[in-house]
Amino acid sequence: MSLIPLITACNQRCLFCSAQGRGDTPSLPWVLKEIKRQAAAGAGTVILSGGETTFSPDLERIVLFAKKLGLKIELQTNALTSCYPEKAAWLVGLGVELFNINFPSHESAGNDRITGTKGTLKLRAAGVKNLLRAGGRVRLTHIISSLNYRSLPAFITYAAKNFPGVKYIQFSYLKGMGAAQENSWLLPAYAKVSPHLVKALGLCARAGIETVVDHIPPCFLGPFYGRHIDFIKCAAGWDTSLSKLEKKRLPGCRPCLLKANCFGPRKEHVAMLKGAEFIRPVTKLPGKAG
Ligand code: SF4
Repeated sequence: MSLIPLITACNQRCLFCSAQGRGDTPSLPWVLKEIKRQAAAGAGTVILSGGETTFSPDLERIVLFAKKLGLKIELQTNALTSCYPEKAAWLVGLGVELFNINFPSHESAGNDRITGTKGTLKLRAAGVKNLLRAGGRVRLTHIISSLNYRSLPAFITYAAKNFPGVKYIQFSYLKGMGAAQENSWLLPAYAKVSPHLVKALGLCARAGIETVVDHIPPCFLGPFYGRHIDFIKCAAGWDTSLSKLEKKRLPGCRPCLLKANCFGPRKEHVAMLKGAEFIRPVTKLPGKAG
């Protein structure tokens, strides 16, 4: 399932923005055509992306068009505009299936640095609460970078306390695309992230929060390897063509017991993180958790 960008304008300047440099020039006719194409290809859900999707003057028309074709809608947003309760209620009323909210830090200074804004953490938190209050289904997407990986467990403690009702949290390791290509220092080595991420996944399991992980190979997830998106896709029989395109197993993966459901590290990570540890072939399965 590929993303459909609606608009390039945004009220943030995220250091890792993958839309920057993509050269999207979405027009309403193109968006509607793309939705129609995905529906005809059998997609059950369309993912509407930005920029900041809630700035699109055509959002209502686009959502209703997709719903008429029987599609579910995932809306990517940074939730800042949802700090207005009426706006959040309006968005939920459109019939969006899932609000996918980019929530990169629970610390004000970290939030400002990553998003290139000032003082927006409070607004984003209010946006999430308003969407939940209005009955929206919310996923938090926490992009892991060198600026926040040490705080992964603390982020979960914050999210569990402040946003009961969140459907699930996706830990998405930074892709080496868009703005992140010029900020390659943002990419931490997998081995550095692994202990913090495993601890955070354990906290989620204890708090009853569902999790999904992507863009860091399953062999760095300890007993939570089953929470990797490629494991989930393979188990559900979903399309894995994008994973196969973006990732590649390395020769050292051969003895790994996880390889049937893993497509390896991201190709650009291997080029960008020179000399780092990319794989940890699993020859004895850890007790599966999560
Ligand atoms: S060693 Fe290779 S096959 Fe095994 S989990 Fe890691 S990346 Fe995937």
